[in-house]
Amino acid sequence: MSKFAVIIGCVLFCTGSLHALNAQLRVEPGEGKRLIFLEDAVRFYDWTVCYHAGRVELAGRRHAIELESGSRVMLVDRVRMDLQEPVLRRMDGRWVISEADLHRRVVPFLREHFVFRTAVRSVVIDAGHGGSDFGAVRDGVQEKTVNLLLAERLMRILKEEGLKVSLTRTGDEKRTLDQRADEVRVENADILISIHQNAAPNLQATGMEAYYAPGTRFEEASMELAHAVLQHALKVFGEDARKFDRGVRQAGFRVIRRADCPAVLLECGFVSNAGDRQRMQDEAWLDAQAEAIADGILAYTESAGSGTAGGDR
Ligand SMILES: [Zn+2]
Repeated sequence: MSKFAVIIGCVLFCTGSLHALNAQLRVEPGEGKRLIFLEDAVRFYDWTVCYHAGRVELAGRRHAIELESGSRVMLVDRVRMDLQEPVLRRMDGRWVISEADLHRRVVPFLREHFVFRTAVRSVVIDAGHGGSDFGAVRDGVQEKTVNLLLAERLMRILKEEGLKVSLTRTGDEKRTLDQRADEVRVENADILISIHQNAAPNLQATGMEAYYAPGTRFEEASMELAHAVLQHALKVFGEDARKFDRGVRQAGFRVIRRADCPAVLLECGFVSNAGDRQRMQDEAWLDAQAEAIADGILAYTESAGSGTAGGDR
């Protein structure tokens, strides 16, 4: 059954969407954390909800979220994103979620409107590393080279879509992280995408992950951008997309923390993984991957352009 059908099913048969006036978010202390009853949040925000044995599905107008009892993994439109604390279905059958996770990760996806909405006209694409900084290297494959190949493709596609695009480096040059981030101010850019390849001691590690920086004033918009980019980028794997989904993650990487706009660092594959490494050397694959990443940027761009509270940066 399609996700859409599941959501329709929920609308028809589940107990959500009962809009209760004056609904309260009760705080339940639990092991030093502030926990919220999920049922309160559902009423308060007027979400659609479908409770299963150990799983719950929530839907707002723009996104659908799945949570699992005892797990920190939240799926947003089937794309993985980690919570700080596990959600729990208690013995009495009531679901609780940490207040911080609810407000910083769940609500932004399920509420109807964005906080930061500014139309995206200008994009900075950062090809990670360069010059004497090779990034990850395995079997002659250099991360800096792959990053630039992808960044150039991405630039071409986005320009064709009418966006103004600039690269933080156009050749094999070394740039500091601050120079890269500051390009946003120079170009008066609306978003920044930093392109990287991963590496890990575990040679089996494979797939894509998208990082946004917590604690900046663009945290929510960056999280949405990271989600949109990863969701679309994974489509390049077709049926196998779930296997390559390493999730939307938080990290204070300097280039995305310092950028004066919503910013995402995308790890596109593992140089240390034989399969990923082979794909990185395949021009047709890079073309397809750049198309998929561009689709994600455009999806975010379109939702931003239609927002009502735009211009507030
Ligand atoms: Zn890197």
